[in-house]
Amino acid sequence: MKFTLQNRSLRLMKTQPAKNCPIFIAGEWRELPNLDSSPVYNPSRGEVIAHVPMCGSDIVNEAVEAAAAAFPAWSETPAVERARLFFRYRQLFEENFDQICQLITREHGKTLVEARGSAYRAIENIEYACGIPNLLMGDTLENLARGVDCETLLQPLGVCVGITPFNFPAMVPMWMFPLALACGNTFVFKPSEKVPLTALLIIELLEKAGLPKGVLNVVHGGRECVDALLIHPKVRAISFVGSSPVAKYIYETGTRHGKRVQANGGAKNYIVVMPDADVSRTVDALSTAAFGCAGERCMAGSTAITVGQAADRILPSLVQAARDIRVGPTDQEAQPDMGPVITAQHRDRVLRLLASGETEGAKVICDGRGKSISEAPNGFFVGATIVDRVQSEMTLAREEVFGPVLNVMRMDELDQAIELANQSSYGNGTAIFTNSGKAAREFKHRVKAGMVGVNVGVPATMAMFAFTGWDDSFYGDLHIQGKEGVQFYTQQKVVTTRWFGDGVSDVWKK
Ligand code: NAD
Repeated sequence: MKFTLQNRSLRLMKTQPAKNCPIFIAGEWRELPNLDSSPVYNPSRGEVIAHVPMCGSDIVNEAVEAAAAAFPAWSETPAVERARLFFRYRQLFEENFDQICQLITREHGKTLVEARGSAYRAIENIEYACGIPNLLMGDTLENLARGVDCETLLQPLGVCVGITPFNFPAMVPMWMFPLALACGNTFVFKPSEKVPLTALLIIELLEKAGLPKGVLNVVHGGRECVDALLIHPKVRAISFVGSSPVAKYIYETGTRHGKRVQANGGAKNYIVVMPDADVSRTVDALSTAAFGCAGERCMAGSTAITVGQAADRILPSLVQAARDIRVGPTDQEAQPDMGPVITAQHRDRVLRLLASGETEGAKVICDGRGKSISEAPNGFFVGATIVDRVQSEMTLAREEVFGPVLNVMRMDELDQAIELANQSSYGNGTAIFTNSGKAAREFKHRVKAGMVGVNVGVPATMAMFAFTGWDDSFYGDLHIQGKEGVQFYTQQKVVTTRWFGDGVSDVWKK
């Protein structure tokens, strides 16, 4: 049973009965009705739309064995042929673009515009993988010594694993398997149990593009499933994206079992606003950075550090912009500006963090709590919320909220703002809004974070650049995407060659 949504409207999607999500092993789709399952929600309505099986070590073993069996033939397939699979995949992805975006919207809750934005980022990763014949070229040095030549080869590792979070159902998986496969590896993919439907659709399209059996396999589940992947002796490398405590656990457990691991974690991203910043552009950018995707982005600009008079200049329009954001269900033709958060539990956590901020002395100046949406009374909604006068010791300042909440912290000088941002245990993204080249230069040089924006609120990197989180936002050595991604999915061999013989070309004797 598959999930192709050809020609189905958003309204029809709403009325489909809940499905059991299949696994995909050795080219076969299979349901597992006898396993425990976890519900998948449409967060706009609070309705269960699917059930996902919680796989254990037996299913994981089958998937890894299938990937291991497919490795010899796939790794010997010329890079130009592997690239052709991704050219076909890119075409199919584009042809099914609307269906993919509707499904993202339905199981995640973000708006269609946001789903489309993330799907474009996904396509860019497929396009990057199409360039694999160039990306795999090594270096050569002739006459390293007399008559001795040296070359590097980039060879695949074997079975790689991808474990993904709920917030980008198509984009984050695309950070992993296209490049891993293009490099000649085979793969086991464990999507988030909260958003498995998009994952199944994009893999169905990969199958249609000509994926050989066993080259990519899909299993579902939670900790038990992940643990079985982390310790399996035939798994060589693990790519993970999710929250920091789990990222740390994946890194420690995976490396202890001899795997190569790249594990992206959570974030708390600071946006410094200088008094000379352009007010309307800064307000637009801050509002998008904080409230886009209902704040469920690892690159969300969740804290504004205003310097000097900046707070007085931007806050009135920022509060108005937040109040103007229309919240509502995203699974219909009439789209709101912002959708729900992922689950009722997550909404309640966001509300608890807001309450803790108030108790500790912060001031809610735009209150998105208690949103009741008459057409979707059971949806998991929180409106755009701005909390002023947040202090660094507050829980709200330290913990990742992952909801539509913007903290405002006020400082007198740029130095203090940089110091405050650098105290964070995370180091994913950060930005400065200013018209001063000197302030921007100072900031980008001294701030401790992997992705920095200058008058850019969400400086998330595109496929050709690594996604360079620091500190608790990343555990590992080689980041996801770009050239580092290619290095992660390959091992380097250096070949030194000398040929013996007599004659004109026998330069080593001269
Ligand atoms: P999560 O950590 O709860 O889950 C991520 C994955 O890990 C899922 O597939 C889940 O099944 C699995 N998992 C969960 N708990 C586990 C456990 N105890 N042991 C083993 N596996 C476990 O994350 P989420 O809630 O799905 O996603 C949101 C988080 O992801 C946020 O913290 C966000 O910042 C982060 N994120 C980071 C990036 C990045 O690039 N840095 C990108 C997107 C999301």
